[in-house]
Amino acid sequence: MDKKRILLITTGGTIMSVPSEQGLQPGADEAALVRFPGSEAYDVSVYSLMTLDSSNIQPEEWALIAAAIYEKRGGYDGVVITHGTDTMAYTASALTFMLPGIDRPVVLTGSQLPISNILSDAYANLQCAFAMAASGINGVFIAFDRQVFLGCRAVKVRTTDFHAFESVNFPPVAEINSHGLAISGAYKPEAGRKCALRNGVSSHVALMKLIPGVEPRLFSAFADAGCQGLVIEAFGSGGINFLRRDIVAEIRKLVARGVIVVICSQCLYEATDMTVYEVGRRALECGAVPAGDMTTEAAVTKLMWLLEQGLSHDEVTALLRENLHGEISI
Ligand code: ASP
Repeated sequence: MDKKRILLITTGGTIMSVPSEQGLQPGADEAALVRFPGSEAYDVSVYSLMTLDSSNIQPEEWALIAAAIYEKRGGYDGVVITHGTDTMAYTASALTFMLPGIDRPVVLTGSQLPISNILSDAYANLQCAFAMAASGINGVFIAFDRQVFLGCRAVKVRTTDFHAFESVNFPPVAEINSHGLAISGAYKPEAGRKCALRNGVSSHVALMKLIPGVEPRLFSAFADAGCQGLVIEAFGSGGINFLRRDIVAEIRKLVARGVIVVICSQCLYEATDMTVYEVGRRALECGAVPAGDMTTEAAVTKLMWLLEQGLSHDEVTALLRENLHGEISI
């Protein structure tokens, strides 16, 4: 049987880090990444795109990664991207929107311990990522700790534990168990769409987490600084204070200035429902858009992406509520 052809794109992260006087820095030899047990089952090509800690991966790098996948994918059955874990969920979400109709499995992975460490989780994560990349299931995924998550549903939830990611409000797409790579069936790949590269995103988006007593003047500062979109992590199912410090009034002012305000929850699981409490309804009436059960990472990257698609304010607002690639449950 022919080996599956997999393109491995490297971007840096702990998986490729080596100790230095400044702390761990990306810089390990890429060849080590294709020496995991079972790697000989694949025909692997390595493309070294960048060598960054993922804290330094920003919209410009997302655009480069998306373009590399789009341009090079033709000769391959799947793509694996090694990436730092810290912002991997943002990159996975951004790539989901930037590559509509993706016609290959694109799987991001990394590790909590550098591959050079004999106790590293890198090999298990690479095994899982390559198996998913060879699965023929199109989409953007994160493979970590023997599980595969839809990229736009994954969140990094632990700083050191090997079980660093969880899939929020959507079951894992697959896991490694005694059947090998067991596909859960929860995810249905999109069909009948031609893959496109839409890698423009706006950097004029900010995220604000509410705290009791938050200073209302901070909100106009976002618009003053050029923000076109603001994601607010509100309380519980979307509560926003209006007594004494009237944040609802600040949202009304932002909306009047053309800023799109999206409301996520500070709770990791389940959805916002801004119709339940007065503290939600008032903000809804001001034109804030509820994020439903989107992760903060998905809401932020979806808003950044929509703002660069040449859409009207109303179209952006409507699409935020729609399910484009599995990021929101309707
Ligand atoms: N700081 C690293 C990064 O995100 C952490 C990791 O890869 O686990 O690049």
